[in-house]
Amino acid sequence: MTTFTPIKLGFVNAYLLPVSGGYVLIDSGIPGKRAELGSALKAAGCRADSLRLVVLTHPDYDHAGNCLWLRDSWKAKIAIHEADAEALETGVMLPRKGIGAVMKVFVGLSSLLRSANPGCPVDVRLAEGQSLADWGLDARVYHLPGHTRGSVGILCGKDFFAGDLVANWKKPGTAFLAENFEDYRASLARVRQIVPADGTLWPGHGGPFPAAALADIRF
Ligand SMILES: [Zn+2]
Repeated sequence: MTTFTPIKLGFVNAYLLPVSGGYVLIDSGIPGKRAELGSALKAAGCRADSLRLVVLTHPDYDHAGNCLWLRDSWKAKIAIHEADAEALETGVMLPRKGIGAVMKVFVGLSSLLRSANPGCPVDVRLAEGQSLADWGLDARVYHLPGHTRGSVGILCGKDFFAGDLVANWKKPGTAFLAENFEDYRASLARVRQIVPADGTLWPGHGGPFPAAALADIRF
C-alpha cells in the first residue's frame, strides 16, 4: 500500500487509504465537518465513483456521522461489524459506562448527540479475521469489543487503525467509555498481540503512537 491520508475532522480522525481501483475510508467523522471531509477526499484524488468502501470502526456518531452522506452522494458501500450493524441501521446506541464523575458528563453528552444520528443501511457485515482484499486492500479486520460490542480494528501492514479501543488525547490511553469493561480489557490485551512490535497505532482521537506504548495503557 502506498501512503495513506489521515484526515482530522475536529476531535476525530478518518483515514483514507488508496487501494487498487480506488479508495477505502476508515471512519467518517462528525456531520459538522462534512465539508472538510469532502474537501479532503477530493484533495487526495478521491471521487464519488472511486470511494469503494467506508469501514466504520464502530457506529458512534463521531465516527459514523457522515456515512449516510457518503453512501447516498458518493455511492460508497458501508461496512461495520455484524454486532454493531443494528446500532448503525437504527441510529440507537446501547448505553455506555464511564469512569468517574467527569465521564458521567461524557456519557450524558454522547447520549444527547447520538440522537442526531439518523441511522444508515449496512452493505457489508464484517466478521473477525475478515480480509478486505475484495475491496483492493491488503488488510485484516479484528473484532475488539468493549467500547461497543462490534468495535473493530484494521491491521494494514504495520499500521493498525484502532477506532476507539485506544485514544491519544494527551498521551496514549483509552476512549474512557465502554459498553463492557471486561471485554474492553480483554481487547486491550489482545491488541498487544495483534500489532507488530514496531507497528504504529492510528486512533480515532488524537495522533499516532508506537505499539510499545500499548504496554502502559490501562482501563
Ligand atoms: Zn469516538
